[in-house]
Amino acid sequence: MMPSITEVLAILDDQVSANRLSHMRRVSETARDLAVQYGADPTKAALAGLLHDYAKERPDKDFLEAIETFGLDSDLKNWGNDVWHGFIGSYLIETELGISDQDILKAVRYHTTGRPGMSLLEKIVYIADYIEPGRDFPGVEVARELVAHSLDQAVAYETAHTIAYLAQKGMPIYPKTLETYNSYCQYMKGL
Ligand code: GDP
Ligand code: FE
Ligand code: FE
Repeated sequence: MMPSITEVLAILDDQVSANRLSHMRRVSETARDLAVQYGADPTKAALAGLLHDYAKERPDKDFLEAIETFGLDSDLKNWGNDVWHGFIGSYLIETELGISDQDILKAVRYHTTGRPGMSLLEKIVYIADYIEPGRDFPGVEVARELVAHSLDQAVAYETAHTIAYLAQKGMPIYPKTLETYNSYCQYMKGL
């Protein structure tokens, strides 16, 4: 069973701050538009976009517990909210909200790191999160232009820039993010 957007909005109101919810609504709209443009299911795109940061404001202990409950790789314990909220968040959405649609769950699961071989819906949510109209950072305009031509180019650009940003700040890069880069960097040629 797929809940309606209205039902999900009521639930999210209790899970995240007003600012976070506004971001999630903009990602939802952006993802719906991209789905129409690229022939994905607009309803699934809107729902995945709306839900993608469901777990973003949960305390660390919820994620550490979930790693045990869902039998996830214990190496995850060495990371933090940035890496946890999408990956582990998808399991919380499944069990707490009863959402069983695997396309939606995977789009949430990989919205931060991406992965090699992303589905159309996964690419759409990954990019929508980066280019939603509230985003304002150097390079976002380029990403918005690229997505008009090619989702793969936009994925490559976003991943390259995220890695450069993290490296510049001396932050650790999650292996899945590097795998995504290696898999999509071929699309950076000519950019
Ligand atoms: P948000 O949840 O809407 O803020 O956006 P994201 O889920 O895409 O990213 C959350 C944060 O995780 C951002 O600050 C990213 O720069 C950061 N991030 C993305 N990839 C990685 C990674 O591989 N390692 C680490 N440590 N952080 C990452
Ligand atoms: Fe996120
Ligand atoms: Fe987000």
